[in-house]
Amino acid sequence: MKIAVCPGSFDPVTKGHLDIIMRTAKMFDRVIVVVAQNPNKPASCFTVTERVDMLIRSTSHIPNVIIDTHDGLIAEYARDHGAVAIVKGLRAVSDFEYEFQQALINKKFNPELETVFVTANAEYMFLSSSIVKQICALGRDISEFVPEEICDDVINRIGCKG
Ligand code: ADP
Repeated sequence: MKIAVCPGSFDPVTKGHLDIIMRTAKMFDRVIVVVAQNPNKPASCFTVTERVDMLIRSTSHIPNVIIDTHDGLIAEYARDHGAVAIVKGLRAVSDFEYEFQQALINKKFNPELETVFVTANAEYMFLSSSIVKQICALGRDISEFVPEEICDDVINRIGCKG
């Protein structure tokens, strides 16, 4: 069985993330979406438990996707769970340098592991969790940007109905 890992902060999951997860689910037998607390990112808006819950609801229609969390090295998580690849979405050249560095580090810790880059859907190229939070805080409609299942979670947390 070919297993892939899709790691990220998912604070919250967006339609851009979901697009990458769905496409990965077509290429692999099983996809483990791993919610990580990235120490380089500003304080999160949702707890890890909330982010996991939102991902579970957003991916319930994809049978070969499971959600998990991890604090340590993703390369070690992948080895422990029998994953052959890490799949990352690439939005623009600006994502590339960081992702390339991560891929090389992961290869060092787990030489068997491949990093696969999937180009973002043109429709979601501009989309990030932080953009969603900014738009919501300004009271604008976010239904175009996040899965329907979690729209109210974001509105209730950020506090603007629009
Ligand atoms: P964000 O940058 O939105 O905070 P994460 O850290 O949760 O996202 O990102 C997890 C993965 O999802 C990364 O590989 C990132 O490049 C990818 N990703 C995030 N947003 C998109 C998008 N709109 N389209 C494609 N891939 C994306």
